[in-house]
Amino acid sequence: MKVDLIVPCYNEEAVLRMFYEEAKKVADGIENYSFRFLFINDGSKDKTLSVMEELAAKDERVKYISFSRNFGKESAMYAGLKNSDADYTVVMDADLQHPPSLIPEMLAVMEEGYDCCATNRATRDNDSKIRQGLTNIFYKFINKISDVDMPNGAGDFRMMNRNMVKAVIAMSEVQRFSKGIFSWVGFNTKWISFKDVQRAAGETKWSFYSLFKYAVEGITAFSTAPLKAVTAFGSAVSLISLIYLIVVVADKITRGTDAPGYTSLMAALLFIGSVIILCVGIVGEYIAKIYMEVKNRPVYIIGKTNLEEPKHDYR
Ligand code: UDP
Ligand code: MG
Repeated sequence: MKVDLIVPCYNEEAVLRMFYEEAKKVADGIENYSFRFLFINDGSKDKTLSVMEELAAKDERVKYISFSRNFGKESAMYAGLKNSDADYTVVMDADLQHPPSLIPEMLAVMEEGYDCCATNRATRDNDSKIRQGLTNIFYKFINKISDVDMPNGAGDFRMMNRNMVKAVIAMSEVQRFSKGIFSWVGFNTKWISFKDVQRAAGETKWSFYSLFKYAVEGITAFSTAPLKAVTAFGSAVSLISLIYLIVVVADKITRGTDAPGYTSLMAALLFIGSVIILCVGIVGEYIAKIYMEVKNRPVYIIGKTNLEEPKHDYR
């Protein structure tokens, strides 16, 4: 049986060797499975690629794909999955926040007959309180409004069988949101949890702004609820406006009151105005998605690789 470890790497020169040593130790301790380390260099600006080449030179199980520029972790995972042909495929981070020591347990779960063994972090002690709070709100919200179930704390660290990998790569959307995709394809998944650890070295690439963008991305990718909310809200405001209009006109006819006041006029004007802009913005988010999707650009472009028959994404 073959197992592929897919590891997206962006500026990971500080931890990559450490990761390899750890993963190799685990792989060497497992019998009956042949491992392959498939590193994806996502346009790193440091010496990540040289480290990959160096590892590949001394271990033939090490394969790498180097992108022509930074395409993002989603693209890196997609490239890895597309280029994997193993019975079991694992997606994991390079910074050792996804402990390779969990792999034997994952294999045992797969042997029980599951299609997928997914992991979630038991605690998030290493995140700030604000970030934890915002994360909780995001998951509550997205689970309410979308048709997929995304457990809080679920990372991308998981092992999948060939069937599931095929389904995941069949979802060839350009703007990928893997958490949603993994859940959308279904399959028999067992969840196991592991303790949250600090990244071994190097720095996280997530800022608050990028997390916010990620949240918007996730919501728009798997739910059209905001669009429906716009319609519902617009209808409600129209109804209220109509009633108010009738009141004002009736007042004018029966009592002859004129110029009902600058304050209420201004309030209504500003309120309706800002709501319209917000709604246009929400609609715009979806139009932007359609726009990028119809262009159908490749999700990644390979600059260099040591795979014999690399699978490109030229659509
Ligand atoms: N990563 C990537 N491309 C990017 C950003 C990140 O391939 O544009 C990789 C990174 O090298 C790491 C994984 O994605 O292996 C997770 O990144 P990070 O540790 O920064 O995220 P966090 O663990 O803080 O969520
Ligand atoms: Mg990390």
